Amino acid sequence: LLKIEDLHHSFENEEVLKGISFALDKGETKVIVGPSGTGKSTILNNIIRLIPPKKGKIYLEDQEITTAQKINEIRQQIGFVFQDFGLFNHLTAKGNVMVGLTKVKKMDKKEAEELALLELERVGLKEYAASYPSQLSGGQKQRVGIARALAMQPKLILFDEPTSALDPELTGEVLKVMRNLAEEGMTMLVVTHEMGFARSVADELIFMEAGNIVEQGDPEKLFTNPDHQRTKEFLFQLT
Ligand code: ATP
Ligand code: MG
Repeated sequence: LLKIEDLHHSFENEEVLKGISFALDKGETKVIVGPSGTGKSTILNNIIRLIPPKKGKIYLEDQEITTAQKINEIRQQIGFVFQDFGLFNHLTAKGNVMVGLTKVKKMDKKEAEELALLELERVGLKEYAASYPSQLSGGQKQRVGIARALAMQPKLILFDEPTSALDPELTGEVLKVMRNLAEEGMTMLVVTHEMGFARSVADELIFMEAGNIVEQGDPEKLFTNPDHQRTKEFLFQLT
């Protein structure tokens, strides 16, 4: 469904991605872990071109999207869940979920409203439809962020540390929603520091460091019997 080939990126003179390649099959959940500053967010931002890719290729299904002009079409097909939620504070939960439907997909208001309510129900927030972000907890805000991504019916969803701004007790409710999505067969690429989630939900785990993929494969193997000493050191220190 998604294929990344030899992706490179530099900021000024610093090379932050040094040739990243991996693929994501339909229905697969892939988790990327690695130290801070390793280039994880840069990969996700390259995919939806919040940062334009510099070298390498990105394919969505059979379409190369690395330099495609139709950036809005790509963003309709790929959902994105941000670390800091990225909600509009002047819109209610329902309004936040609707905005992409009415503005980007040009859906009529009634239809968008019905779909928004369904998606809020899916993340357990039906009764908060009329609440503003300031009236919601961090976990609830992030679940609105997930509902908003889902409402666009994307082919896959990218998550960039969706729980790292949350208190531990709110992290669980967000991870549970993500776990359910994975079980329902949603295609997901998740950057996280939640090792329990990585180990139990990922179909495949990628460990990266300093702009390179050190090792990728079955999470159980990486946690218990990795091929590389660095994988062992990193995962061991966190579990
Ligand atoms: P974290 O776990 O802290 O989120 P990360 O793996 O997501 O880290 P990136 O955000 O991809 O790391 O950053 C990779 C490197 O690129 C870092 O050294 C960072 O300082 C640098 N970097 C990121 N964004 C920019 C930017 N807009 N301009 C210059 N340098 C940047
Ligand atoms: Mg990051």
